[in-house]
Amino acid sequence: MKTIHILQVPVSITSYEEIIDIISKTIRNNKKFSVVSINLNKVIKANESNEVMKIIKSFDCFIPDGISVVRTSKEINDRITGIDLFNRICDEHKKIGAKIFLYGAKQEIVETTKNNLRRKYNDIQIVGIENGYNKDNNYLVNKINQSGANIVFIAMGSPKQERWIYENKNKINANIFMGVGGTFDIISGKLKRAPMWIQKLGIEWLYRTMKEPKRLKNVPLQIKYYLKLKKERRNIK
Ligand code: UDP
Repeated sequence: MKTIHILQVPVSITSYEEIIDIISKTIRNNKKFSVVSINLNKVIKANESNEVMKIIKSFDCFIPDGISVVRTSKEINDRITGIDLFNRICDEHKKIGAKIFLYGAKQEIVETTKNNLRRKYNDIQIVGIENGYNKDNNYLVNKINQSGANIVFIAMGSPKQERWIYENKNKINANIFMGVGGTFDIISGKLKRAPMWIQKLGIEWLYRTMKEPKRLKNVPLQIKYYLKLKKERRNIK
């Protein structure tokens, strides 16, 4: 899997098929594989904090999730979003042999996510869940280990979820660790994904700000980095 760098942030040149294949093999061979999705907000957070940059660089796979990231380099052919990769892993759960632990979001959201997934795939193995507001990490690590999970999806927003993976993946027997941000909010039906035309314009971040005004404070940096990525695109092409 080739890695390029956009404003110093790693981005993998890969495909859904390749990642699903690596996930299956990683589980079969009892190895570890961690996935982080790279979008405008990750580029901002990594460039504004050495600690976040170090954490992101510790991952194995950096999926090109945000359109503004995808458009920055000609080498990236496919956009791979966190939520679509999550859905593909669920689609292929049998082939992968997935035993899934869902960690993050509010209690009713993570419960509804589990129930919705069980309704959609009646034989999917969701071996445990925990909301993202439990402060007792030892309890959580034990709970995941006792569940026998081989895949842990973490939905706590960034960089919280990436930091948690960085600090805990070696204490946990699972093989696959992936930060999925607001995915449980969408699967549970609490939030809607941006319409395709907004995604295509590369302004999904603006849509999320309008839906969740607490994000308003991020807009100045988002505009600054959105323009930086545009400039980078001209330099690369
Ligand atoms: N979240 C959580 N624990 C926290 C903070 C957030 O589980 O301490 C959850 C939150 O409930 C939501 C998800 O993380 O389901 C994404 O949060 P947010 O939208 O704030 O993250 P962002 O997408 O801005 O990184």
